[in-house]
Parts: sequence; C-alpha cells; structure tokens
Amino acid sequence: MSKGIAAPMMVLFAITFVCLHAASFLLAPAHAMVMSYLFLIAAPVLAFAAALRRGWMTGLAPTRGWSLVAASMLLWTCGMIVSLREDLFLANNNVAPGGSMLFYVLYGVPIFYAVATVGVETSVMQRMIDAVLTLTLGYLYFVLMFSWISLEGASNPIAAHMIADMFDLENGFLAATTIIRFMAADTLERRYFFGVLAVFSCLYAVIAAYYNHHVALDVAPDIGSLYDLIVDVPFLVFMVLASTGSTRISQTLDPPIGLVRFVRSGSPLLLALAVLLLALLLLRQHFGLGVAGVMIAVLGYGLRSILSQVNQIKTQDQLRQDRTRFAEMAMRDSLTGVPNRRAFEEAMDREWRQALRSQQVISLLLVDIDLFKQYNDRYGHLAGDACLREVARLLQQALRRPADMLARYGGEEFVLVLPNTRAKGAQEVAARLCKQVSELQLRHEDSPTRYLTVSIGATSIVPTNDMAPDALVQTADHALYTAKRNGRNRAEWVA
Ligand code: GH3
Ligand code: MG
Ligand code: MG
Repeated sequence: MSKGIAAPMMVLFAITFVCLHAASFLLAPAHAMVMSYLFLIAAPVLAFAAALRRGWMTGLAPTRGWSLVAASMLLWTCGMIVSLREDLFLANNNVAPGGSMLFYVLYGVPIFYAVATVGVETSVMQRMIDAVLTLTLGYLYFVLMFSWISLEGASNPIAAHMIADMFDLENGFLAATTIIRFMAADTLERRYFFGVLAVFSCLYAVIAAYYNHHVALDVAPDIGSLYDLIVDVPFLVFMVLASTGSTRISQTLDPPIGLVRFVRSGSPLLLALAVLLLALLLLRQHFGLGVAGVMIAVLGYGLRSILSQVNQIKTQDQLRQDRTRFAEMAMRDSLTGVPNRRAFEEAMDREWRQALRSQQVISLLLVDIDLFKQYNDRYGHLAGDACLREVARLLQQALRRPADMLARYGGEEFVLVLPNTRAKGAQEVAARLCKQVSELQLRHEDSPTRYLTVSIGATSIVPTNDMAPDALVQTADHALYTAKRNGRNRAEWVA
C-alpha cells in the first residue's frame, strides 16, 4: 500500500492510450469525432480515478486536496460529455457551446479552493468563508463568460476569442498559484500534491491556450483531428504522477520561511482579490451583481482577517502563558517545589549587590540532612524524596521575612539567604530550624536520635568590593562541616 503503482507500467499505459487515440483516426476515419470524444472523455476519467485512489489512500478530506482535484476532473469530464452531446445530437457547430463552457469554468473552482486552503491552518469559520468566496468566484466567472456567449455558444468570433482569453486567465492563474504552493510546501505530502498539481496545471494551461486559440478557433474547429491527442497529455501525465508516488511521505520540509509566510497570509487575500477583480469586470454589464461581488470580496476578506487576528491573539496569549510557565519551571526544583540553585544564584547576586550598596549585613545558612544516604538505603529512594519534600516544606514555612529566600542547593542540601540579618539573628534561625526538623519526628532508625535531623552551617557578612557571593557560601560550608564533625543535629556559625 505504501508504494504507488510501478511508474514504467503507468507510462507505458499512457503512451498506449495516446497511440490508440491516434490509431482510431486511421481505423475509423468516418467516426473520428465520436472516437476522439471517447478518448477525450476517458483521459480525464483516468485522472479522476487516479486522484480518487490517492485520496482514498491518504484521506478523502478536502483539507488533503485529492478529493477536490478529483471533483475538478469530474467537472471537466462532464464538460466533454456535454460537448459530445452538442456536437452529436444537437448538431451545434459553435466552437464555444455554453453548456460545456460552464463545466470548463467550474472545473477550476475545486482546484482553486485546494490552492487556497490545503495545508493552510484555518478554523471552520475561515474555511466556510473561503468556500463562499470560491463559489462566488466560480459564479462571477461563469456570468462573465456568459455575457459573451449563450448556451448555444459564442455569438461572434470576437466573443469566442474573449472566451479563450478568459480561459487563459483562469488556467494561468491556477498554474502560477500551484507552483507557488509547491515551492512553499512544508511537508513532503503537500509538496507531492502541489507538485503533481503544478505539473498538470502548467501543461494544461499551455495546451489549452494552444488548443483554444490555434486549433479550435483556427485550423481544426471540430473534434476529431490529430490535434486532439495533445489534450490527452495533461490528464495522462496527472494520472501517471498521481498513481506512482509513494504514500509514506509524512516527512516535513524546510521551505524558505518568507515564502511560507507569504503563502499563508496571502492565500485568503488571493481569493478575495480574484472575486474583486471579476466583480469589477462585471460592473458595467451587471451592475447589481458586480456590486454584490465587490461586497462579498470585501466582507469575506474583512471577516477572514478578523478571524485570523483573533486566532493570532489567542496564539500569542497562549505563547505568553507558556513562556511564563517555562520561566517559572526553569527556576523551580521539580521535586520539592522550592526555588532551585539557578534561582538561588540569581537572588544571591541581587541581594549581594543590594547589601554592598547599603552596607548591610547578609546571612546565609546551609542546611544538610544528616545521614541521608542511610535513610535512602533503609527506607528507599521514594521515601527519601518524600522526606526531602517534608523538610523543604518546613524550611519554607519557617521563613519569617518576605526578603528571606529558601532554595534547594543540590542533593539533600538547602540554602537560606537572609538579607539584612545579623549574626545573632542568623544563629537563632539556624538553631530554631534544627529543633523544628527534629520535632517533625520523621523516623530514621540509623540516626542516634532515631529521628531525622539536619546540620546547619551559618555565616554573616557585610559585603565589600573585593569579595564575591561565593565567599559567603564557602564560609557557610565550612561552618556546616564543623557542625557535622561536632556530632550533627546542630547549627554552627562561622564569621
Ligand atoms: P551526612 O550526614 O554526612 O550529610 O551524610 P549523608 O548520608 O547525608 O551525606 P552524603 O552526601 O553521603 O549523602 C547524601 C545522600 O543524599 C546521597 C544521595 O543518595 C541522597 N540524595 C541526594 N539527592 C537526592 C534526592 O533527590 N532524592 C533522594 N531520595 N535522595 C537524594
Ligand atoms: Mg550533603
Ligand atoms: Mg547529608
């Protein structure tokens, strides 16, 4: 399923198709027209089948595009069938019979909708607006064409040429926009889709221009000449390309970001602009419809812009919230919920500079859980984690002043910064914390007290220019070492 049909087989099939089409003129010259019609109907049917098969494999949702292209191929087939009917049963020799022209006009609508919407992130409302704009486009185009022709066909050669010009406009527009979408595709799947579509649209635009201007209006007005063979080509090429590509193409690409942005923001404008253009062209002959078209274009674009603005604001709000959350997360210790070491370092820097300016004393306490390795060994790591949370909670609650700060320094060590706190105050806080932890009475069989205890190293300093905050930590660490050496479950203060 992941692979397409073998390419050589499909190419051979396409060549055989064209050869048979040519052979039919030799084998049944008297029925050249009917035979040619059969091939000209079969070619888009094959393209329709290939698009449908592709859609079936990758998803028939219009957002994938293939079902839209299948619809276009079907509309073109209908145009050919109606043309056959006019030629064969109604004996209408007009080169631009209105019935079939209608289908050739409508044929572009689903492809155009695909160009404007496939892979463009939109809300349901925006897609509905796009659909209304696309339908309006199709309708205005149709009215414009029918202001030159009737169902019978073009009233005179000038009108017939105008029709051919209008088709050039439609086909050229589709070719150009599919190429842009191809170049701006950000996934391999979409690059493949728009690639196939671009090749088809370009071939179709060139061949249709040649056929409409040169063949139909000049050398061979009737179906049934060898010129018809070239009309098979875009459909057969589409069939080959659409049926031979792999379906496992979910890889993302890296197209020029400027182009991607241009396409994303430009697609809706494109639709509205096209509607506006056609509406302006219609104003003279169909004033009411022209005005309605202008209004739909302006309203559609306006509404769509408001909706994308709303979406953008929503996204921005979300991004801002995410950024705040991530910034918070980057500063918090995930286990205990208290600020982490990075937050401590930033706060310490701030407080140090502040104390340096105001020449105030700053105290620092290093709190280390006693015999924590044994605690983990005896009660398990998860119990150790719970214990760390419990100690962090207690330390956090013990902070009295808003400027005081607690952080997890690492492992089973916490640090407290007490700005504007003298030695005596720091010693009192340290002693109180030691007592409070032991009073928690968390069981620790390997501890001499049978309960979990902490040791605290404290120090106080009035910063001077030749010192760094590290000095404070080092001294506190030294005090902590003394506390451990002196039997743990105690606080020591070092100047
Ligand atoms: P001392 O009284 O001398 O401080 O002894 P100690 O066992 O507490 O010291 P040591 O530094 O040897 O061991 C610290 C232990 O803390 C070792 C490590 O497994 C544990 N620890 C560090 N971080 C965590 C943590 O996030 N969760 C748990 N459960 N344990 C931790
Ligand atoms: Mg330690
Ligand atoms: Mg320890």
